[in-house]
Amino acid sequence: MNAATSIEAPPYQVLLYYRYVPIADPEAYMKEHRALCESLELKGRIIVGEEGINGTVSGTYESTQKYIQAMHDDPHTSDMEFKIDPAEDHTFPKLSIKVRSEIVTLGLPGESDIDPNQLSGERLSPREFYEKMQEEDVVIIDGRNDYEADLGHFKNAICPPISSFREFPDWLRDNAQDLQGKKILTYCTGGIRCEKLSGYIRKEGFEDVYQLEGGIVKYGKDPEVQGRDFEGLCYVFDQRVGVEVNHTDTKKVISHCRYCGTEEPHYGNCKWPSCNEQIFVCPSCREENGLYCGPECRAEAEKDAAPEAE
Ligand SMILES: [Zn+2]
Ligand SMILES: [Zn+2]
Repeated sequence: MNAATSIEAPPYQVLLYYRYVPIADPEAYMKEHRALCESLELKGRIIVGEEGINGTVSGTYESTQKYIQAMHDDPHTSDMEFKIDPAEDHTFPKLSIKVRSEIVTLGLPGESDIDPNQLSGERLSPREFYEKMQEEDVVIIDGRNDYEADLGHFKNAICPPISSFREFPDWLRDNAQDLQGKKILTYCTGGIRCEKLSGYIRKEGFEDVYQLEGGIVKYGKDPEVQGRDFEGLCYVFDQRVGVEVNHTDTKKVISHCRYCGTEEPHYGNCKWPSCNEQIFVCPSCREENGLYCGPECRAEAEKDAAPEAE
């Protein structure tokens, strides 16, 4: 690398990507891919299946650039789009590559499964999505789980109270009445869940269905919209937990300390290991009460710890 890049390049990068593309022998592909990632000392989570590949990895600037090049040299992923974040260090503790039947776990039963290349909502760029949100008769559906939406979501979005995507079909059926005749917009972290989610909504009989291409992550990086009207942080499945999206005057914190109600943008995990729930506790309440859901979790944690105490 020349001097100019080394001045501007961050020490590490985090990559997020997916592609729905037929992979004939996922097992062989996975083994080869693991060798590539190990040689580049990447860490993160990658899922390979007959329907494609989905991953998020961290590595040094140089090795992530080499990885992108290697993926672009592979005919399966020659036009893969990468969402790239700078980082100070690895954001994953280890590397995990697995073969699964679905590259993102939606758990739609056999005959309801969707091929996004056949049936999907209309893909909108960040700018088109922002403009569509301003129209009449629009319903914005957060396609993620409740704990992700609690950290941040689009203004006026409906956030289904579900803890896994498997629960989405039931939620949709229960709420179908309210969605009749509306323009339905869906979004998720990087766009992959909406590929099938929006297709599934269409399959359930709704016609005006749109999805945010590239998800919240791309929306936040778009030079025009700059994350406008996304409130809170975007939940990510690595050690950063939450990342900034909104770089405009509409930025705000939507999460609050469970003890005192003050604004608190960061998740912590309840320190009672059997609970480990993700909760919002502000720094001063952490000092006073510890990082616990409440007195019960704290009492249980102290009981567990007691026998070891000398
Ligand atoms: Zn507090
Ligand atoms: Zn707890």
